[in-house]
Amino acid sequence: MRYAEGKDFVGFEVTSRLKLPEFSSTAVLVRIFNEENIRLTAMSRHTWEDEIVDFVIVDLAGTGKTPEYFVQKIQERFGGHLIDVRWAEAPAEGFIYDMFAFPLIARLGVDDVPVVIFPVTSLRSLIEGMIKEYGDQSFFILWELGFNIGSSYAEHWISAMKGKSMRNKLEAAVRTVQALGWCVVDSYDADFENDIYIFRVTHCLECEAAKHTTEQGCSLLSGIFTGIVSKLRNQAYKATEICCTRKGDEFCIFKVERSP
Ligand SMILES: [Zn+2]
Repeated sequence: MRYAEGKDFVGFEVTSRLKLPEFSSTAVLVRIFNEENIRLTAMSRHTWEDEIVDFVIVDLAGTGKTPEYFVQKIQERFGGHLIDVRWAEAPAEGFIYDMFAFPLIARLGVDDVPVVIFPVTSLRSLIEGMIKEYGDQSFFILWELGFNIGSSYAEHWISAMKGKSMRNKLEAAVRTVQALGWCVVDSYDADFENDIYIFRVTHCLECEAAKHTTEQGCSLLSGIFTGIVSKLRNQAYKATEICCTRKGDEFCIFKVERSP
């Protein structure tokens, strides 16, 4: 998504047949705009089985060129590789986004999962609002939300990594927590023998969001790690937060063990 005053943004979405190394759609697209001295404002691509979708945003202000001109150029250069090309003008002056892409997709290993992104400030309003409205109950709601998220990550990797070890699946699930932006997993220790799991994190999203509230402890991450371990081991666990950056500790540390 871009906004810049005075720009005449146009978005092009080009779908073509994936044929590497003879034909690289992305390289061809870059060349087409380079030849006209037009810089790409944004570029993204994704592959879908044997198709590739490139999306580019360019600023045509002052170039004297029309989108149709480029559509024709793309058709010529892509030839038989081209499946589809479409373009769209900025919906508001100077503002553009990838209007062809919905939903937003996160690639979770082998699967594409639809996702929605919202800023940490929204999470902050949500937490503040919940505490105001529900008091201590809100920590349980956050924990429950986290638990469901953690369980779903573990469930995903259990089915995607069939035949792999428990340690592998745990590793993938824990790293998914970081990949999707909940925190940085600094390190963790899985003691399968004694059934105790310690997770040490920095940049905890909830600490970031709730830093000015009276909320104590990290319910979301407690729930997420409990959900992961419970799903992987198919038993009930509980998490204790040993350290929290909001209390001045260097890390948020969670200890997950069997629920009595
Ligand atoms: Zn925290």
